[in-house]
Order: sequence, then C-alpha cells, then structure tokens
Amino acid sequence: MHKRDAACSCGQLQVTVEGEPVRVSVCHCLACQRRTGSTYGFQARFPREQVRMTGEAREYTRISDAGEARTFSFCPECGATVSYLVASAPDVIAIPVGAFADPGFPPPAVSVWESRRHGWVVTPAGAERRD
Ligand SMILES: [Zn+2]
Ligand SMILES: [Zn+2]
Repeated sequence: MHKRDAACSCGQLQVTVEGEPVRVSVCHCLACQRRTGSTYGFQARFPREQVRMTGEAREYTRISDAGEARTFSFCPECGATVSYLVASAPDVIAIPVGAFADPGFPPPAVSVWESRRHGWVVTPAGAERRD
C-alpha cells in the first residue's frame, strides 16, 4: 500500500499513513484560518487504522460553531499540528496536507465554508462547494 509521511516543522512529531485518503478537502472557515495562519485549511482524512503517529504530541480541543469537538495534535516544540480528530467522524483521522510537504498530493474534492473564502482564492474546477 502507498505510504506517506507527514511531520511537524522540527521533525519531532511524525505521522505515517497507508493507502489513499477517503476525503480531501479545503475549509475556508475563520477557525481554520486562525489555526493555519493561512487563508484556508487543506486536509485529508484517512481511516484511523491506517494512521500511525510517533513522537510527543500535545492536544487542543476546539468546539465548532455546530457544537462539535475537534481535537488537534501538535508538536510541543514547534507548535505545528500534524493530525486532528473530528467528533462526528470517529473512524477517520485528518492530516493537514501541508504536513506531507508533497506538492503532488491529490487536490481537494470538497470545498467547505465557501462563504468565508478569500476573494482571490480559486476553488478547483470540479470540487464540490459548500457554504
Ligand atoms: Zn515539531
Ligand atoms: Zn474550517
């Protein structure tokens, strides 16, 4: 099975995933903008059993506007998030795609919170759009 490695900025916290992601999305919500320091989050979900994390992580749980918990695992040294859990989808683990440092990663098929999208950001043709 295809393996991919993700890591934090300093390399202390690593994630290995096997197989292809079950969902690749971008999210333009304001919470993702704050978390990433960028204009949108770009993440891929993998079946939980195909994800292995090594290194020391700290966790931060945020409650979404819909009242749903999201728990982020980040490196206590450099602060980069390498995975997170969504309470409504306990069978998958989301990995911020940037942590793979792989420009060949599959593009997003879903674009969430389009109403918060910065005007210059272009949603890929064919992606499902949600407000
Ligand atoms: Zn680190
Ligand atoms: Zn978001």
